[in-house]
Amino acid sequence: MTQSRTYKYDNLQIRIEEGGQSTLMVWFDGEIHENFKTQQVALPPAESYIMNLSGLRSINSLGIREWSQFMYQLTQKAQVTLEECSVVFIDQVNIVPQILAQAKVISFFAPYFCPQCNLELSCKLSVAHHKKALLKKRAPQIIHSCGAELQFDALEESYFLNIDKLIGEK
Ligand SMILES: [Zn+2]
Repeated sequence: MTQSRTYKYDNLQIRIEEGGQSTLMVWFDGEIHENFKTQQVALPPAESYIMNLSGLRSINSLGIREWSQFMYQLTQKAQVTLEECSVVFIDQVNIVPQILAQAKVISFFAPYFCPQCNLELSCKLSVAHHKKALLKKRAPQIIHSCGAELQFDALEESYFLNIDKLIGEK
């Protein structure tokens, strides 16, 4: 039986599930702002955490301070893997890379645009799969379901500014 617990902090929801072998899966959904307090977010102890950040919609500068403290403390005592980091989170990593502490990112979203469908999309990039392009700070080539090649919808040198820290080449 998988046990699932959900904690609510104002406009942030944290869902925790046991992932076996002393690993906890943690989903963050919502916003990280000044109400996100390190002391209040007491995750149950585990040897490793896999955090899914696809639901992080906004982060402000006061929230970033608390988050950095939270990640620093957590990565001191456990292995932390971040997956499906939202575009909002990556934008913050590019301003304040310390928010990663010692966490390892395995996948994240990036903004793309389909010229044929006239559609803005967030595409998931896998660090392992796209490492070669990412290390060159280049957006990996992605073909849309319509057959057209997607255009990257940000400045590559800005969006991949701290890619070396993201993919663990610190
Ligand atoms: Zn398309």
